[in-house]
Amino acid sequence: MENSFDVIVIGSGINGLSAAALLAVEGKKVIVLESNDAPGGAVRTEQITVPGFHHDLFAMNLGLFAGGPVMAALGEQLTKYGFSLVPSSKPFCSVYPDGSMIGVEADASATIKNLAAVAPEDVEAWEELTAKLGLWAPFLIGVLNSDLPSVAAVKTLWKAHRALGTVGLYEIAKLALQSTRSFTNENFQSPKTKALMATWGMHLDFAPDVSGGALFSFLETIGGQLFGMVIGQGGAASLIDALVQIIEANGGEVRCNARVDEITVDSKRATGVVLATGESVAAKKAVVSNVNPRLMPELLPTHVAQESSIKRVEKFQSGLATMMIHLALEELPPWTASEARTYNYVHIGPYVDDMAQTYTDAAAGRLPASPTLVIGQPTVTDPSRAPEGKHTLWVQVRMLPLDLADGSRWEDISEAYADLVMAKIEEYAPGLKDAVIARAVLSPTDLERYNANLIKGDSLGGSHHPSQFFFLRPVPGWGRHRSPVKDLYLCGAGTWPGGGVGGSSGSMVAKILS
Ligand SMILES: Cc1cc2nc3c(=O)[nH]c(=O)nc-3n(C[C@H](O)[C@H](O)[C@H](O)COP(=O)(O)OP(=O)(O)OC[C@H]3O[C@@H](n4cnc5c(N)ncnc54)[C@H](O)[C@@H]3O)c2cc1C
Repeated sequence: MENSFDVIVIGSGINGLSAAALLAVEGKKVIVLESNDAPGGAVRTEQITVPGFHHDLFAMNLGLFAGGPVMAALGEQLTKYGFSLVPSSKPFCSVYPDGSMIGVEADASATIKNLAAVAPEDVEAWEELTAKLGLWAPFLIGVLNSDLPSVAAVKTLWKAHRALGTVGLYEIAKLALQSTRSFTNENFQSPKTKALMATWGMHLDFAPDVSGGALFSFLETIGGQLFGMVIGQGGAASLIDALVQIIEANGGEVRCNARVDEITVDSKRATGVVLATGESVAAKKAVVSNVNPRLMPELLPTHVAQESSIKRVEKFQSGLATMMIHLALEELPPWTASEARTYNYVHIGPYVDDMAQTYTDAAAGRLPASPTLVIGQPTVTDPSRAPEGKHTLWVQVRMLPLDLADGSRWEDISEAYADLVMAKIEEYAPGLKDAVIARAVLSPTDLERYNANLIKGDSLGGSHHPSQFFFLRPVPGWGRHRSPVKDLYLCGAGTWPGGGVGGSSGSMVAKILS
């Protein structure tokens, strides 16, 4: 029997669920079809090491969502369904081989004190950048939350021009094109302050010398000080649970173990989908795909997939791969820089040149000898994730090869590589190994197994380099969340404004369909 809905959403990532929730609240009849056994895509919380320890398998930092349009629209209902945010006034720090650290705190004067202790020569520049973000933030956030190109974005830029003048606007354009090395060289003197900012570029695929990295690094570094960091009480999946409940309470449906095999197209218009089980579901108004754009041709009928406008999306490139290591711990890592125990994120680059080398190795298919590490300590602010007095550690290993040049397979080498990562952390936190109760490693291949959108372990759902960012995301002709097929819309990390648990692209699609 054929089912019929106003809108079908393929995939229950943060953007698919956000679009569905916003449309359901408006009275649209929606269904979300998810191939996995659980909703959420790259937002998932599990007791993957030992019972009692709740690990965010992938995303942990919900700052983008907290400041985004879905929270603004649905915040009250999300709270009603059990979602709450745990703030941190000490969002991140970097630790260095000599045992020193720089911590960025939500209290600007505390950050300045921390910086002055290690790199006094950079205090003035830091204060100037803080003032600059204060001036620029409304316009940067305005553009990030607008479709591109759009009248709303032009209006925001016009307002920026009136407030900041032509030179101010050009300065923002320069930031959007600049690499982190160039930006940090212009602003800072200490290699430690430069690394503090450059590490943020590595969260995306902005190695220090890649054009465009400065914007994200600047926003996250100085923004961390302005806005702090937030995580989900009990785990990031509480956000997913709440979104699903909003959809269901408003007459919608979220179906797991429901892989979409084909999008049906009739007279060049998307009319519905066919599931792997053979079941057909019809869409009266639209099909919204939360699938990585690179995978879209596989879902379209062959005659449509062969059209040049569709084939163009095959050029959408992945970012480099990621590995996750989850630890259940007796105690927090015994950082040599002991204050690091009080921060949600600890970064180990350690320096700009190390990060550049790591990226070059990974891009060439070689295992980086000294990988860049983002180490999450969620239990610092949310002890509910572990038994009393115990902790979880979330270790993201950034910039790994998508394919290994020597032909080895991730499934064979991931545990040994995780040992190398542990040895690196041990250099900064001697004795960590004695605190480990259990460990779970998710290799790049595991990431893709959990979520087909993470092609070869690319945690970003597509590289964010400028050639496929802004109005060019994912590829020319597929912008503004529209595909070349009528009534087939796109949301998710592979669309503007890119990866992260923000929900913005889902919100933009919901707006189009309202
Ligand atoms: C390890 C890791 C750590 C991260 N850390 C952070 C962080 O701390 N903070 C942050 O902001 N961001 C983080 N990110 C990025 C962020 O999690 C993602 O960019 C974001 O969650 C992607 O959302 P999405 O809407 O694109 O959907 P996805 O999460 O990609 O979900 C898409 C869903 O679609 C489903 N699907 C695909 N094909 C089909 C099909 N044919 N039929 C049915 N279903 C299908 C998939 O199974 C999946 O569930 C991290 C990502 C990773 C991988």
